[in-house]
Amino acid sequence: MNMISQNELEKRRRQEQRFIDKETQTAAKYLRRIAELPGAPESITPFLSTLERIYVNLQGVYTNRPTVGTYCVMTPQELIYAAGAMPVKLCSGNYTAFSIGDDVTPRDACPLVKAVAGFLQTGLMPVYRDCKMMVLPVTCDCKKKIAGMLKNSCNLMTMHIPASRGDDDIDEYIRQLYELMARLEDATGNAITYDTLAEGFRMVGRAQYELSEFIRLKKNTPYLIRGTHAMAMMNAASYMQADMWAYAMSRVNAELKQKAKNKQTVTRKELPRILLTGSPIVFPNLKIPLIIEEMGGIVAGDETCMGERGMWDPAVIVDDSFDGMMRALANRALRPCPCPTFADNSQRLFRLKQLIKDNHIQGVIYHVLRGCLVYDFEYKKIEEELGKLGIPVIRLESDYNEEDIEQLRIRIEAFIELIKLRQAPVRRKAV
Ligand code: SF4
Ligand code: SF4
Repeated sequence: MNMISQNELEKRRRQEQRFIDKETQTAAKYLRRIAELPGAPESITPFLSTLERIYVNLQGVYTNRPTVGTYCVMTPQELIYAAGAMPVKLCSGNYTAFSIGDDVTPRDACPLVKAVAGFLQTGLMPVYRDCKMMVLPVTCDCKKKIAGMLKNSCNLMTMHIPASRGDDDIDEYIRQLYELMARLEDATGNAITYDTLAEGFRMVGRAQYELSEFIRLKKNTPYLIRGTHAMAMMNAASYMQADMWAYAMSRVNAELKQKAKNKQTVTRKELPRILLTGSPIVFPNLKIPLIIEEMGGIVAGDETCMGERGMWDPAVIVDDSFDGMMRALANRALRPCPCPTFADNSQRLFRLKQLIKDNHIQGVIYHVLRGCLVYDFEYKKIEEELGKLGIPVIRLESDYNEEDIEQLRIRIEAFIELIKLRQAPVRRKAV
């Protein structure tokens, strides 16, 4: 009996080591590809080091606060900071965790949720293990079912996300925010007061300010930075305290300002400018932006929620009472969010058109994670509307593995060539 459990133990230890080796190798490979892409600002180092710390060195986040895991941008970070804790985004892009999660989830579940299930199975990632509690907004069926898996292994609070965003929906969300507040106080042992909530707003606000400055710089000077580098910096925000991320971002902005002044861009050529939208693109699964930029395009705009969208909208306080601040958080979480989880999502189209105009976009890549129905549903409408503007769009479906890389490469290359052809001056036939 003892002998069998020793064998079992040894088998399990070997499996864990295999997981760690594969997981860290993939993350290290993607970090290398990101770093090798020409034109990275020098100030990108703290962001890449953060991703390395979490996924290659398998350490926890750098903070002296307790951590609270979140699974969607619809969880207000301000409230978590107000409880003296730090939010950590746990949506995952990990291929190794995905292949483990694949065995315990249905075939058609999305890879993001499979990867979360995989981490849950192995219990090896400190960022998951260290969380005092987790907050999971139920935005789609996959999230609902993963909540069922998580609830037995951690202190989990699910939040109901309504399909519409009327006044009653906002009131119901505020009620849930008060419940979240009590749960956070319980988990951290810290009281949330008017002052701590105001401090939470300040911390997140500073990060949002630096992001808006970054977006302004990119908009004013095309080709100042590559989208893949920007997406790596946005992904690192999941594991950096907001004030530290804001500081690191202020260094990037200072460097970019100087580069803009010196007319120093990442390329001298007019590369096809592409907007990336669709299902979340989570580190290390940055294969699509990497392929776009390795094949001669540039990701000039990013509408994904792990990217700039995740921090874009600041909470606007109209009434500065405690309740007014909670209302501001609810309004920000639901009203402007262009996530297709909402039944009426016309603002997404508005946002896409705005990004296309601001970033001089010439083509849109619509990313669909296999099994992500909510994003897939909106594709047709978006293709149709952007077609009216003469903007070509392609839908790229992908999974968390490298088997589809060649196919993605061929399609992306053809799309880039199409944009180049459309931009080429039309030669008149001699009559
Ligand atoms: S895609 Fe939508 S539901 Fe999923 S994490 Fe992003 S904002 Fe939340
Ligand atoms: S919104 Fe899409 S990517 Fe996110 S959990 Fe749901 S199915 Fe997965």
